[in-house]
Amino acid sequence: MTLMTIHSTRMLVLGSGPAGLSAAIYGARAGMEPIVVQGIQPGGQLTTTTDVENYPGFAEVIQGPWLMDQMQRQAEHVGARMMWDTVVEVDLSRRPFRLIGDGGDVYEGDTLVISTGAQAKWLGLESEHALKGKGVSACATCDGFFYRGKKVAVIGGGNTAVEEALYLTNHSPEVTLIHRRDTLRAERILQERLHAHPGIRVLWNKEVREFVDGGGNAGLVQIELVDTVTGEISRIDADGGFVAIGHHPATELFRGHVALDEDGYVAVEAGTTRTSVPGVFACGDVADKVYRQAITAAGTGCMAALDAERFLQAEEFAHATSADEDMAIAAE
Ligand SMILES: Cc1cc2nc3c(=O)[nH]c(=O)nc-3n(C[C@H](O)[C@H](O)[C@H](O)COP(=O)(O)OP(=O)(O)OC[C@H]3O[C@@H](n4cnc5c(N)ncnc54)[C@H](O)[C@@H]3O)c2cc1C
Repeated sequence: MTLMTIHSTRMLVLGSGPAGLSAAIYGARAGMEPIVVQGIQPGGQLTTTTDVENYPGFAEVIQGPWLMDQMQRQAEHVGARMMWDTVVEVDLSRRPFRLIGDGGDVYEGDTLVISTGAQAKWLGLESEHALKGKGVSACATCDGFFYRGKKVAVIGGGNTAVEEALYLTNHSPEVTLIHRRDTLRAERILQERLHAHPGIRVLWNKEVREFVDGGGNAGLVQIELVDTVTGEISRIDADGGFVAIGHHPATELFRGHVALDEDGYVAVEAGTTRTSVPGVFACGDVADKVYRQAITAAGTGCMAALDAERFLQAEEFAHATSADEDMAIAAE
């Protein structure tokens, strides 16, 4: 017989990236004794990278895994509890909200913070995998600075790809946008900016066949392309290759339970972390298709904890007031 354990808290946090851990820090300091279910990637996406130069508070370059270890320790130090489990089922139809872990443990929360993140989509090439962090990236804001003065290429044709190409012109004298069709999907205004920029060239009807490793410590040196119309093979020089073909928000678990937007991100009320279900809040990349940074994830994590705390306060006040009214009516 398997024994099921029930873990209960006033604030349940799903996900242990910068958003979830920041929510946990603020939630613990507000006395909500949060439980964080860490998921398959404790520490989140930043544990997959090395140098982080844009998280405020550190004059020197820091390492992603180190930063996340510090965040987790800080959350534990102020009283958050970490659970190494992955949630496979949710019931948000009544409170406390009930989530089930893959070993059968039950997590109950008076409030729930969803911070399950989003994963970049990749092309799926072996060479892409081998050169991740050695020239191949999925985030120009994160890594563009490391390619100052170098040749870079962006792969994609939507808003993100065009924005990344424009962003990279801040650092790189030669930006190439590689797109497999002959028209872009990006908004017209972005396309106009792209075409007007002298530092960007577009290669139409080209698919990446291989990211070419220069050997030794060289990392990426070239990108091999195939023409989608003629089949012709060609190569361009590139020190950085940015794959910008979209992200998958980790929201499958919540489909049908919480409102998602047209791209599958958790829909939140503007300027808050409130979702369609009262008492459920969302923060970080799972609700953000624009900024997708550790600092914005941490910032919205803080907001989620404050929103959750205010939600419980308001509810407790409403209960206390209605109990007083009941007593007054009974006394009449
Ligand atoms: C290679 C790389 C380099 C980057 N570099 C930078 C950088 O230099 N600077 C910067 O600001 N940003 C950088 N980013 C972006 C940054 O990492 C993200 O914006 C940030 O991590 C988002 O935080 P998050 O908490 O929303 O989600 P994530 O970090 O994605 O964390 C999601 C969490 O949810 C958990 N989870 C998912 N599903 C479940 C489930 N079913 N049950 C329980 N838990 C679950 C996961 O285990 C994980 O802990 C980089 C990203 C990558 C991939």
